[in-house]
Amino acid sequence: MGLIATIALITLGISFMVFVTFFGRLPALRRTPIAWLHKLIWVYLPNGVYALDERLTGGRATNSCSRFANFIMYDQHPTILIFFILLLTISESLYLPTAWPLLSPTHKFFGTIAILCPYIFLYLSVTTDPGTITPHNHVSEMARYPYDFSLYHPGSTCRTCNLLKPARSKHCSVCKKCIAKMDHHCIFINNCVGAKNQHYFVLLLLTTSVLTLYGGILGLNILSTKILRRWPNWALLPWNANSGGEGMEIKQWLMIWAWGMQEAVSLGAVTLLALLTSPLVWGLLGYHVWLIYSGTTTNESMKWSDWQAEMDDGFAFKRGIDAGRRKKNLRIEPAWTRWPVEAEQILVRTESGRPPGRELDETGTEGGLVGEGEWEPVWRLRDVENLYDIGFWDNLVDVFWPGYMYRDPVSLEPRGRGRGRKGRRR
Ligand SMILES: [Zn+2]
Ligand SMILES: [Zn+2]
Repeated sequence: MGLIATIALITLGISFMVFVTFFGRLPALRRTPIAWLHKLIWVYLPNGVYALDERLTGGRATNSCSRFANFIMYDQHPTILIFFILLLTISESLYLPTAWPLLSPTHKFFGTIAILCPYIFLYLSVTTDPGTITPHNHVSEMARYPYDFSLYHPGSTCRTCNLLKPARSKHCSVCKKCIAKMDHHCIFINNCVGAKNQHYFVLLLLTTSVLTLYGGILGLNILSTKILRRWPNWALLPWNANSGGEGMEIKQWLMIWAWGMQEAVSLGAVTLLALLTSPLVWGLLGYHVWLIYSGTTTNESMKWSDWQAEMDDGFAFKRGIDAGRRKKNLRIEPAWTRWPVEAEQILVRTESGRPPGRELDETGTEGGLVGEGEWEPVWRLRDVENLYDIGFWDNLVDVFWPGYMYRDPVSLEPRGRGRGRKGRRR
């Protein structure tokens, strides 16, 4: 039991750390223990260690540690990708020799698909260009999405690439390029997740979630069959087990478990690993499905959370834009885009907490000039429209078949399902 318990504890610990690291910064979890733990692990603990190290070695140890962490997180290299592939491959080669001969033809068939799919979608996520913006494709990328005058205002230039930033794009400091519909830079695939590989990334998450759950349940099944042959009164759940009419003591139940694990150590260890990491992968998949449902990206959900803070402070104002207006400054804003809807509002912040006056119109960004009517304060994200949310199904279509619902460039009428329904921020 010693070895198994150690593996279980380490895996559980690592999964939990990864979970807190990924989810701790999410706006949705801001006032939860997860966010608090994120602060503890990534702010207070490092600060404490740093203070201690300052006294002991003059800060040398933490210096090299932080250089290593920076290298892992913010440099482009395949270390984590290789670790991920090794974790998959080694686990499978430990698991399959015991499990394969015991599987029915149906499970052999689905098992083969479940094993192959993550490799295929990992390969496609890694090798597909996420949507690099170059001088060559800049005109077409500018026409991908309209500016929403909330998160993205026309006229801002990437200082590194020296190109106007298309709506929803972002410069990745790791890849050193501007990426269309940038979601985030993912160290597991050593690539950005953007407009052109987002669907492969979602499929990678989906197939990995299925693999871990499927492998875990199948492993549990094989182990309990093994155990039941020797201990017929045992059961997978302690309250179902019984020894001679009475309930089985938890201690005895655990001892029999340990016996079963020792009978098939590698299968048992991988089953445990699969079951412990499964919730993490399902969680990441759920988060990305939620992003698609809300018509947003990881990058934009951070921006919306900044806007929430501005709204809480009373610094956010909006007014209407005529969606059918003729765009005046075609140098910075494309005349038409392939997206079925256009911005109908502008959202700005002021330093003073008073509605923008003439000074903003004169000195503000070029985006600050558009719109008409009175400025009104905005207190809640719900009162702001998200231009990029056109309903769950159409958002999904935009991820998997971009172009299907886009407007016809000749008639400017929406094609396919996207008929210009406007979504609201959720
Ligand atoms: Zn750039
Ligand atoms: Zn990147």
